[in-house]
Amino acid sequence: MWRRNRLPRKNPNPELAFPVKNIIPILGATWLGDDIEATIDNISIDSRSLQNNAHTLFFALSGPNNNAHHFIPDLISKGVRFFVVSDIPTSVKNDANFILVGNTLLALQQFAAWHRSQFSFPVIGITGSNGKTIVKEWLNFLLSPDYNVIRSPKSYNSQVGVPLSVLGINEKHNLGIFECGISQTGEMEKLAQIVSPTIGILTNVGTAHDEGFKSEEEKIVEKLKLFENADVLIYQKDPAVDAHVSTRTFSWSFTDARADVLISKTVSAAKTRLEVSRGNQNLSVEIPLADSASIENAISSLMVLLWMNYDADTIGRRMQQLYPVEMRLVVKNGIHNTTVIDDSYSSDFQSLKIALDFLESQKHHAKKTVILSDIFQSGLANEQLYKKVSQLVESNKIGRVIGIGQTISQFKNTFENIIVFASTQEFLAQFDTLDFGNETILVKGARQFEFEKIVALLEEKTHETVLEINLNAIGHNLNYYRSKLRPETKLMVMVKAFGYGNGGFEIAKLLEHHKTDYLGVAFADEGISLKNAGIKLPIMVLNPESTSFPQIIQYGLEPEIYSIKGLKAFIALADERRLEHFPIHIKIDTGMHRLGFEAEHMAELIAILSKTESVNVKSILSHMATSDDLAHDDFARAQIDLFEKLSLQLMQALNIRPIRHILNTSGIEHYPQAQYDMVRLGIGLYGISNDATEQKHLEIVGTLKSVISQLRTIQKGESVGYGRRFMADGDTKIATIPIGYADGISRHWGNLNGYVTISGKRAPIVGSVCMDMLMADCTGIDCREGDAVIIFGESPSVTEMAEKLRTIPYEILTSISQRVKRVFYRE
Ligand SMILES: *Cc1c(COP(=O)(O)O)cnc(C)c1O
Repeated sequence: MWRRNRLPRKNPNPELAFPVKNIIPILGATWLGDDIEATIDNISIDSRSLQNNAHTLFFALSGPNNNAHHFIPDLISKGVRFFVVSDIPTSVKNDANFILVGNTLLALQQFAAWHRSQFSFPVIGITGSNGKTIVKEWLNFLLSPDYNVIRSPKSYNSQVGVPLSVLGINEKHNLGIFECGISQTGEMEKLAQIVSPTIGILTNVGTAHDEGFKSEEEKIVEKLKLFENADVLIYQKDPAVDAHVSTRTFSWSFTDARADVLISKTVSAAKTRLEVSRGNQNLSVEIPLADSASIENAISSLMVLLWMNYDADTIGRRMQQLYPVEMRLVVKNGIHNTTVIDDSYSSDFQSLKIALDFLESQKHHAKKTVILSDIFQSGLANEQLYKKVSQLVESNKIGRVIGIGQTISQFKNTFENIIVFASTQEFLAQFDTLDFGNETILVKGARQFEFEKIVALLEEKTHETVLEINLNAIGHNLNYYRSKLRPETKLMVMVKAFGYGNGGFEIAKLLEHHKTDYLGVAFADEGISLKNAGIKLPIMVLNPESTSFPQIIQYGLEPEIYSIKGLKAFIALADERRLEHFPIHIKIDTGMHRLGFEAEHMAELIAILSKTESVNVKSILSHMATSDDLAHDDFARAQIDLFEKLSLQLMQALNIRPIRHILNTSGIEHYPQAQYDMVRLGIGLYGISNDATEQKHLEIVGTLKSVISQLRTIQKGESVGYGRRFMADGDTKIATIPIGYADGISRHWGNLNGYVTISGKRAPIVGSVCMDMLMADCTGIDCREGDAVIIFGESPSVTEMAEKLRTIPYEILTSISQRVKRVFYRE
């Protein structure tokens, strides 16, 4: 898919091991030490988080209020031996090795730029006023099936963050995605040298962080410096930008016909359909997001896929799975009747203003508290900055401010009611003494302060919709089906569609632990993400598109081959790559009439296979259409007979002994005599059988749980929900539950067709299921707000739901959206 394939150059220093003596000339530094033969494998700028001290190179950065040179004696006592400094503290002059430079930040940047220059794979550089982190996270999601991606951690996009991100590159990576943020003129040039992007993305030129620029134009010119040596700049067509670009561009627009890609959007409920036209290529893409910022960020990401020549199917499939990157202003219910506004994403002055406005608008409680980290990216001197912050906080009538960080601690006298902690750890240690209760708490901090740890403590644990996956039950079900097989029969487990909605990697890992023989997935993408996650089991791909053959080979996946065309294409590629005996699986159509070779193809199939050494028929398989329904027993037996005949024909003509397999879950239950050398277990592993007697032997794997958000009692004649489709005929207690059709609960389940379980009792669903909520009648059930609600599990079971909804359990399970958190547990 990536047509401009450039192979990464080998890093001369695998695993980031830098000989000290090589570093000195890169930095143009003076050496003062006695261990010049040593190697460095870790770079640090933070005296609080160290690792492998003896091989750490500590860059002593110094800012106006924060000079890391002060920590050097302490670091030496902790075993750090190498320092990049602009001054050598006299007290420790002979106790360590010093690399003396004029400016330690510049030295860090030079070192990163040199490190970057050792690699020649594609690097995506992202800047813009908003959306950098989201686009970076999404591109990582979209591209990681095909690449080993290195990306900026969190939102490391500053003068310090970017070099640290880039220093993380090692020889395993073959694609980089880095975001760059600037707050004033002169900064981008340095970041451009460090990142040296081949593909540039300008997300937008909004108004954030404006203090450092004289004009809009100056800001644009500065941002574009990132892309001066890039192969291409991707951006939304904009005359203000066009006036200053010198790079080749690949632009998009909703309106401007001169753009390379024209896009129109249709926004509905929770999704957006994008009609994309690029010259005479048209594609239609659906994304599960509907706000305009998300749409623009999604388009920036999509443009990269187009530029990299991904095919329409892959683009469509992956874009459809984009998820909201939750990073700002999330309101959560907290402990002791608090409301928590979670903005543990950024801490610049602009976004603090926005967050305080939001806090005011929420008005959950009279009492307001702000937990605030050091503030970055303001473009102001600290003294000025914290004065402005204290004024802002005062004008918003914040009762208490909790400052976390060394800088805000230094300026504590600027604030009226402030408690300060030097670090998040120190705050967490004191958490219980701070008496949070009956208040709204804004948690606002830069990513590196890890305020998510604070939010985790403040958050009420029950308020979540989760699909709980019982790993013990999976083990039990696996063993149950194994007990039906001969000991030597191999077992392939189907983990397609995110393990039937239950979870991909976690379940694959468990199956590896249980020593199954094979995994089966539908598409190459699914196999690649498992391989990337470290799964070692062989993986068969049921439905490989020929465009994915290169990735199949690259990742050592094993394709199912079902047509002469596919076979020829795969052999051609295998020959080109000089492969020998690459495992393939031959699919025979014995009556399903979906994929596979039929009797009439056997001669040609044999002729082709007998002439090649590049592939090896690892297995021959077929799939049954009616194994779950004994009414079609004759048909099922005819399929098995035909499989026997055609597979034997292949084996004899080619003189091979491949693995043969035809049974799925119901096949194992009903036709164990046809287990051949392997079976393909699917739905049964996840605790569901199409056969009621078998079902009794299985354990439930997934329980979909939510909570009661609110309770109310309505009176006779009052209605519930859209369209007033439920009318109370007496006093009725209504529970609102935060799960809806966007989570995969069918609307047909509403209006008294379905029920949930609360406190062990059935509560019928009243009114229509909404996008994110549903309402249940819990009259006579003893329950409270915050109580757990079972959507499915023991009662109703997935099978029961499927019957009432006139579908099959497979559809119910795989419909549960990715926004529902999967929680895995063992008993
Ligand atoms: C999905 C699938 C299976 C597993 O089917 P279950 O009914 O879930 O056991 C087996 N083989 C093929 C080809 C499949 O597509």
